[in-house]
Amino acid sequence: MRPHHERLALAYEVLEGLSVGDAVGEALSYRYYDSRRLSGFQDIAAGTVRFTDDTEMAIALCESLSLLKSVDESALAWAFASRFKRDPDRGYGKMARRILEEIGVGSPWEKVSKHAFGSGSYGNGAAMRVAPLGAYFADDLADVVRQSTRSARVTHYHPEGIAGAVAVAVATAAGIRARGMTSTQAAELMWDSVLEHTPESRVRRMLEVARDLDEVPPEVAARELGNGAEVSAQDTVPFCVWNATRCLADYEEAILSAIEVGGDCDTNCAIIGGMVTAYAGRERIPGRWLEVREELPRKT
Ligand SMILES: [Mg+2]
Repeated sequence: MRPHHERLALAYEVLEGLSVGDAVGEALSYRYYDSRRLSGFQDIAAGTVRFTDDTEMAIALCESLSLLKSVDESALAWAFASRFKRDPDRGYGKMARRILEEIGVGSPWEKVSKHAFGSGSYGNGAAMRVAPLGAYFADDLADVVRQSTRSARVTHYHPEGIAGAVAVAVATAAGIRARGMTSTQAAELMWDSVLEHTPESRVRRMLEVARDLDEVPPEVAARELGNGAEVSAQDTVPFCVWNATRCLADYEEAILSAIEVGGDCDTNCAIIGGMVTAYAGRERIPGRWLEVREELPRKT
């Protein structure tokens, strides 16, 4: 097992891929049809392309792992709520705002999360932030499942919300484990791991559909699998895993092709960016994108 500081370095490396995907996906989402032309970010000052709630929550998760080395739900709930309170205008969804506000005034996370939407949220918010956790626990996939489940439940108690987070965390962990393999071998390992570990759910059934899709254009895959337009885990995660595994050697193409299918662009690109970076490393993220993205807080 790798020591804590190495695992944390992997988590923060994946956070880079997640946050660049988030920021670039958000910035180009409004003109997604023209995103390739705009993706050079000409005349955009360094550090000015803002990331959104996906990155905010992923930072809270990384800081929590840095301190505690595992997921403690109450501590994580508090970390999410504190970041939200400090900077609420980051594109959080309506329900996320309500949950984080309630936790922030002292309501127990379990009560708040369990009753969101009646039976817990199945939004894509637990999946969007979880990739660094997958990197941190990559040495032990069973632990990835346990820890990602805990991290999801804090805000997404519904089994679909949890399944989406488990799938992304396991795919990310498999990406780390696949470093040094060819991208084809890595994609195989990611799919095998995800299907083995994702609990029975619609997320999992659509992941099976996704794996069996022939080489179709992304817009066809998105029509089949969803593109996050419903902001649910089921509607988001299968396409993201499909697109990431298809473009493991090419971060830029993974992000631009995801933006072109529309839907929840920042979250799709955050998830995909994290998974691709797990395998390909930070050096495959376009330098210009790293330069224009607002700075991440220093690693704690
Ligand atoms: Mg967002």
